[in-house]
Amino acid sequence: MVAMGTSLADKAWDRDSAVYRVSGVINVISGWLLTALLAFTTAGIIACLLYFFQIYALIGLVLFVMFLVYKTNVAFKKRLGKKSEISQLFGKDVITSEELYLESEQRIGVALQEVGTLIQKVIDALGSESKKKIEKVSLEARDFSERYETLYGSFYATLKKTADAKSINYPKPDGQLTFDRLSSLYLAGLYHQEDQPVHLQLADTEQALISNLLNFAEPAQRYCPAGVYEVIDDETGGKVLHINAQNCVHCKTCDIKDPAQNITWVTPEGGSGPNYSNM
Ligand code: SF4
Repeated sequence: MVAMGTSLADKAWDRDSAVYRVSGVINVISGWLLTALLAFTTAGIIACLLYFFQIYALIGLVLFVMFLVYKTNVAFKKRLGKKSEISQLFGKDVITSEELYLESEQRIGVALQEVGTLIQKVIDALGSESKKKIEKVSLEARDFSERYETLYGSFYATLKKTADAKSINYPKPDGQLTFDRLSSLYLAGLYHQEDQPVHLQLADTEQALISNLLNFAEPAQRYCPAGVYEVIDDETGGKVLHINAQNCVHCKTCDIKDPAQNITWVTPEGGSGPNYSNM
């Protein structure tokens, strides 16, 4: 309020901003009045209860406060549980490709099992036409989605800087069980129209590349399964991130894993993308 009054005195208000400033003041004052109204009403109700029911009202109020404290405590512990699950996953020093593979396999297995159970519950609840069951399962589904969104949304932060990372010696593809990127890409049967807009968009073309190069040796060159990203020299002697968008197999890894959160995967033109004819 003081700041607004000062800005009015300084003639900082103009025709366009005045309406926002006035509505801001009205919002603040309404908030105060509403809080005061709620506080007085609650105090009035408590006073009436104490006046009419005396000791019983007092006991009831104490029990109500204890219930609130208990509920808050349970909610807090639940939040703490979620946090520790995330820190357990991210705090672990997974260094070999085998460990990484096992860790991912277990996590994906657990997630798929949960999805299967949830789908079964949804079908049962819908079949029973019971509002209570449908509400219960929708709460469970929301909880599941929140848990995995938190993991998904924090994934990029787990990437180690080049200086702290150990190099992993991947065996060369044997051509029987393991294959090189280009031959796997060929199997994807990719199709993108040459002149369609690039569906991998960079929010910042310079700073993010500099920070990714300095700290992580531009990881997109390695994690992208289709070799879409290449750091190349430009004509001025600097570096640019070259994007071969037509090779993209639409896995969305870059959207999740880029440490600068600079890459956005947007939906390409209809009919574009991989076409695994043998699947
Ligand atoms: S979506 Fe997957 S394949 Fe496409 S550019 Fe990103 S990481 Fe590469």
